[in-house]
Amino acid sequence: MTGHPLVREVFPDLVHELVALLEQEGEPELAVHARDLRLVADCGCGDDFCQSFHTEPHRAGQPYGPGHRCVPLLPAKGTLFLDVVDGRIMYVEVLGHEPLRDLRVHQPEQPDRPGRPDDWPGR
Ligand SMILES: [Zn+2]
Repeated sequence: MTGHPLVREVFPDLVHELVALLEQEGEPELAVHARDLRLVADCGCGDDFCQSFHTEPHRAGQPYGPGHRCVPLLPAKGTLFLDVVDGRIMYVEVLGHEPLRDLRVHQPEQPDRPGRPDDWPGR
């Protein structure tokens, strides 16, 4: 089984943000867990503002059960919620957030991009 990709290899910026926000919220264990989340499935609702994804297999429409809690975070923009069951992050709800940089999508280098060399990464 090849398994699902690590979220940090698909959305590194988001994981960075999640870890920082969780530590800020006093959730260090979830912050550690966030680094090892896997991207199991996209939300699938198709809404433009929704970039949510599942990090554990879960059947749509099923309640998470008694160990469930919802952890709201405070990103700079939009809404981030985690659905946590017994200390495991099941689902990351990302609404109205900046478009996530998705490393699965080939992003061509843009050496000829005019102006603004100062915001190139690594400088
Ligand atoms: Zn959705």
